[in-house]
Amino acid sequence: MSEANQIKNIVIVGGGSAGWMTAAMLSRQLESNISITLVESDEISTIGVGEATIPPIRAFNGMLGINESEFVSSCNGSFKLGIKFENWARKEEQYFHPFGRYAVDFDYIPFPYFWNKQRAVGNKRPLQDYSSAWQLAQHDRFSIPSTDKQSLFSGFEYAYHFDAGLYANFLHDYAKERGVKRQEGTIVKVDTDLNNGFIKSVTLASGQQIEGDFFIDCSGGRALLLSDALGVKFIDWSEHLLCDRAVAVQTSHIKPISPYTRSIAGDFGWQWRIPLQTRMGNGLVYSSEFMSEQTAMEELITSVDGKVLTEPKPIKFKVGRREKFWSKNCVAIGLSAGFLEPLESTSLHLIQSAIMRLVNLFPNKNCDEINTDLFNKQTTEEYEHIRDFIILHYKATKRDDSEFWRYCQHMKIPDSLQNQIDLFSTHGHLDLSNKNLFKHENWLAVLTGQNILPKEVAPILHYKQAVDLPGTLSSILSSMEQIVKQVPTHENFIKEHCQFVQK
Ligand SMILES: Cc1cc2nc3c(=O)[nH]c(=O)nc-3n(C[C@H](O)[C@H](O)[C@H](O)COP(=O)(O)OP(=O)(O)OC[C@H]3O[C@@H](n4cnc5c(N)ncnc54)[C@H](O)[C@@H]3O)c2cc1C
Repeated sequence: MSEANQIKNIVIVGGGSAGWMTAAMLSRQLESNISITLVESDEISTIGVGEATIPPIRAFNGMLGINESEFVSSCNGSFKLGIKFENWARKEEQYFHPFGRYAVDFDYIPFPYFWNKQRAVGNKRPLQDYSSAWQLAQHDRFSIPSTDKQSLFSGFEYAYHFDAGLYANFLHDYAKERGVKRQEGTIVKVDTDLNNGFIKSVTLASGQQIEGDFFIDCSGGRALLLSDALGVKFIDWSEHLLCDRAVAVQTSHIKPISPYTRSIAGDFGWQWRIPLQTRMGNGLVYSSEFMSEQTAMEELITSVDGKVLTEPKPIKFKVGRREKFWSKNCVAIGLSAGFLEPLESTSLHLIQSAIMRLVNLFPNKNCDEINTDLFNKQTTEEYEHIRDFIILHYKATKRDDSEFWRYCQHMKIPDSLQNQIDLFSTHGHLDLSNKNLFKHENWLAVLTGQNILPKEVAPILHYKQAVDLPGTLSSILSSMEQIVKQVPTHENFIKEHCQFVQK
């Protein structure tokens, strides 16, 4: 490639989590001959939520070379072993979506198939009981997984909870050290090239013009560049995902710091509880068709534990995705690309995977369409896979105590999701590939947790009579219970390794 065709000047628009995650990773990956400018407006605030994550974030931080203890202590962080879903299948029922595998596989057959065989003959223990993540979580304990692959405690994974503002600051410092320039200002105009429609520059309210070869739109839900300037449309998914509003509030702690997120279904949506070291993040996600903002605020405030520390913050959102994520010389990352409600904490992950996809498919100035199309295809597949997984939580409910839940239970769902449910209900199989974010164990947690179970034992199990299943299952449980007792509490682990230091 000739040097003249090389991208020399990148402009990132937006300084929320998406903007700073992008700036940090590009400053790490594009080591020389490049200038990166991030424009953010002090007048337009960031969304200010986004505090629960999923395990791949550890790989992202690892690629940045971030030290875990330093990161957790700077961002008021805690550890997350999964999500506890309360009142989703039915009121008063709960289940846990653990990170990592269940027990151990036998003879190349995943453990859950054996669990299902025993269930069919009367074993009442839920699948989650065979997950080391749940064994730790229910006792508020945490430590790093064992590196001994034979250990039952090698199979779990973990993620973090953290303060979104502190995370953005942390990445800001990281990116600044690696040469990223921050430009404060509100963009009032986007200039495009009349010949090819590429973005040439953005103009700030001060009149200052910022030129670039390549633009990354991290401007939030409005998508200032991709939508306003380049006209890329939004595909709405509200037919399947009714929630379009949230209220968020911070409170003090009154309980031990749990190593998991709670998701508590209500009459017209659900609430989150995210434990950080010095406070809780709480929120109510709901459908504005069924509930007013005032009622949502009251409901949240009356149901949170601890002292309310902040004014309740109302948030509006649209669920869906852009028709394209990359158009011309502009890629949208973050809320500008699309949004799926935070039920499985997937938004920061979508940001991270878009950044890594961009790094892998990094273009020249022409932005060859064949390259751009691949980015769009892969991102679309990722969004649709996550969409299906989130819809499953609503569809699989047996609640019929409100119009909201009755709609969810009977709504039409995408064929791709219906196919997964039908497939699983037969012999416990699922149609997944290595590229999918949510693996067998993740789907199994929600399917079995919400009482969708295979009608028959997978036929292969009839040929595997050698394993003493009742004996093996009970010895797995007693070994796990023994090991859990030796693991520190989550609070003690934090105190010892990564206590929050206010700067
Ligand atoms: C209720 C709720 C809960 C959530 N919880 C989670 C969670 O637990 N886990 C998770 O992974 N994700 C969660 N998310 C998603 C997460 O908050 C976002 O994906 C993440 O914060 C990224 O936001 P962003 O950077 O794209 O946009 P924003 O935070 O909105 O930032 C936009 C930036 O663009 C700038 N900007 C906008 N217009 C202009 C302009 N004209 N000129 C200059 N600058 C401009 C703003 O100043 C700002 O810096 C949640 C979202 C919602 C709505």
